[in-house]
Amino acid sequence: MKTFDPEAATAAYLATLSPDAHARATAYTQGGHWLILWTAVVGVAVYWLILRSGLLVRLRDRLEGRGLGPLPTSIAVLALALTAETVLNLPWAAWSDWAREKAYGLTSQAFVGWLGEYLVYALIWVVTSTLLAAGVYALIRRSPRLWWAWSGALVSLVFILSMLVWPVFIDPLFNRYEPAPPGPVRDAVVALAEANGVPSDRIFIYDGSRQSNRYTANVSGLLGSARIAMSDVMFQKDADIAEVRAVVGHEMGHYVLGHVWWRAGFLSVMAVLALLLVDRLFPLAARWLGASGVRGLSDPAGYPVLGAMIVVLGLVGNPVAASFTRWAEVESDRFSLERAQEPDGLARALVKTIEYRAATPGRLEEILFYTHPSVGSRVRMAMDWKAAQQAEPMPVTLVRPGDLGR
Ligand SMILES: [Zn+2]
Repeated sequence: MKTFDPEAATAAYLATLSPDAHARATAYTQGGHWLILWTAVVGVAVYWLILRSGLLVRLRDRLEGRGLGPLPTSIAVLALALTAETVLNLPWAAWSDWAREKAYGLTSQAFVGWLGEYLVYALIWVVTSTLLAAGVYALIRRSPRLWWAWSGALVSLVFILSMLVWPVFIDPLFNRYEPAPPGPVRDAVVALAEANGVPSDRIFIYDGSRQSNRYTANVSGLLGSARIAMSDVMFQKDADIAEVRAVVGHEMGHYVLGHVWWRAGFLSVMAVLALLLVDRLFPLAARWLGASGVRGLSDPAGYPVLGAMIVVLGLVGNPVAASFTRWAEVESDRFSLERAQEPDGLARALVKTIEYRAATPGRLEEILFYTHPSVGSRVRMAMDWKAAQQAEPMPVTLVRPGDLGR
């Protein structure tokens, strides 16, 4: 019997794309790494402009002059700051999120459509961030010594709340969700859901092809509000059931393994660390940015200083955050392999993602920037799993319906 060679199988999958296509993917992906830096530079510049305009200090003085208390004053000042930030960031966002995607053929959306969505997101962002930031400033006033620790808890609470409401209130603003039509794709997903303890009564198809050509699905919602949503892109490319099972199996992995809770905890720790640094370094940053008229950390007119510090800390923390998501992705790939048992379906689906995530980056590049492991290493993992199966097939009990494999 001929033995299966995982290395050769991986190479064969990667070779299904032409060298040109690989080169294009590498250009897109490496340009994307630079975008992380430039987005941070633009972000800091925007905060600097808002600060130097003196608008926030003037609004604060006027509101205080009218006898307004610290909470309403902070809400008004923060709403102005966040609105200005969103407007000033628009040209850069239009280039990096739309024009660049369009240039690489990764979206077919018209600019007007993109802009409309940007404005809806912006509105949601301004309202929720104003409330969150006002909460942080209230904590600074009430607990000047330990506000950063309390704020970490607040951040994870807001994150979990947003996970709860997102599929119900926000997703439908951008896409039409309809129950998946009956047929082999839906049947395969229902069977996989039932076997893995994922609610199978809410399986949706949404018009994801409006925004991008990405072959994608997600399992979102929490605490029984879970639902499986598949982009219509998965149905367009004459459905390959093994691929559908592999991709949906991966998404179910995120859900069953509770990655959203891990993420909430991770965000909380990152937020505590970042805000502790903000607490210690605020006076220095305020001096560097030339924040005149700002009374200190507790003054919402100094929000641009705080925002710029978060941007810089986010840039520094990016590799840690990327490594965290890569860990979750590996776990979900493993889940998909064990439950859906479709190593070739997974490999075929992964190859389609190369166009926006180059397949074989250097090790350091992957650690620093990749939010998902490279397709090269993911396909290799699938092929290694397949090879191990052929040597010693997995016992059937491991994939028994209802077994959560904890
Ligand atoms: Zn994933």
